Amino acid sequence: MIIIMRPEIRADGPEVEDIVSFLRHFPEIKVKVVESEGEIRPVTEIHLIGPTHNIPAEPIKSMDGVEMVVRVSSKYRQIGRHDIHLHPVGFTYQDILFDQDSLQIFAGLCAVDTPEHVEQVFQCLQELGIKTARMGAYKPRTSPYDFQGHGAKCLPYVFELAGKYGVKIVAMEVLKENHIDEIRQALEETGHPTGVMLQIGTRNAQNFELLKAVGSQHEFPVLYKRGMGLTLEESLNACEYIASEGNRHIVFCLRGVKSQLGLPHRNLIDFGHVPVVKRLTRLPVCVDPTHSAGVKDRSPEGILDIFHAAAQGVIAGANMILVECHPDPKTALCDGPQALTLDELKEFVEDVAIVREAYEKRRALRKKYSKGEED
Ligand code: PEP
Ligand code: MN
Repeated sequence: MIIIMRPEIRADGPEVEDIVSFLRHFPEIKVKVVESEGEIRPVTEIHLIGPTHNIPAEPIKSMDGVEMVVRVSSKYRQIGRHDIHLHPVGFTYQDILFDQDSLQIFAGLCAVDTPEHVEQVFQCLQELGIKTARMGAYKPRTSPYDFQGHGAKCLPYVFELAGKYGVKIVAMEVLKENHIDEIRQALEETGHPTGVMLQIGTRNAQNFELLKAVGSQHEFPVLYKRGMGLTLEESLNACEYIASEGNRHIVFCLRGVKSQLGLPHRNLIDFGHVPVVKRLTRLPVCVDPTHSAGVKDRSPEGILDIFHAAAQGVIAGANMILVECHPDPKTALCDGPQALTLDELKEFVEDVAIVREAYEKRRALRKKYSKGEED
């Protein structure tokens, strides 16, 4: 059960205190007061976990400050929207907003190779006015003989260079809990020149201990990538582990699913699920056109399949794009064949802006027609 408070009610207000003391009559219920940024306004909610069927909704509904009482299903209760009753939630990190309306592009190296390449990418992002990047230090590879990433030793120069070029957030995959400590330590040692969004890769989509580890820290937001062989429902339930540990600063990322039916793409592009995830959950949704398409092929008009894939996500309302680029893709130590050059990245950013504008027009059109439906 979730009790949603009216907009003016704050988590430390007397109305919340009254409800929490009423709930003490039900000692078997765990009560958690959650305050987060909503799409339109901050939201204060009281989450009840346990056998809530014993708790009568009516007396709570009539208590001061209560807007709504929602009985939630046991599935992804914190990230779920529960039949649209709940507002989407967003968050601001490093002064950048993530919610179901915003759009951020995170571009950069699949795997950090040299400080020169990191610097070239950040410089290019600055020229494009982008403050969000991706950089892989820890790489989960299919073969143990492939490059596994430079690990902790590249973190100081990655963070310092990010700061130098005004990059405010670097999305970075972690493979185990100790990587979070290494990132925290490197940020401290370099004087916090940037922020980090912890990425859970598709191969760890059901690594529940890792999900609990990123969920139980509150410093870094989390980019959760859908499991490549999981149903959407399975991935949403796994993602819930992060929120259930207390961290609700989560972005859910679609990155394609493994299937021969996706050939000649690396994965079957699943961006038709963008509106589905936005409807089922309160989370901002990311698309990864690089790993889903996975090739640099072009359609007859000359547009890269990676651009087309991103466009499919953006036209459907995606809130974040994760895209790989490299100053010299043929020398990349990981995923070079799918990396955009820096010139292609420039074109990509312009292409995304066109599609985003079309999405905004589609929203305006819907608004116009929905007015007619109300009359
Ligand atoms: C990545 O983004 O670097 C990556 C390895 O992606 P995925 O986990 O989706 O394969
Ligand atoms: Mn990659």
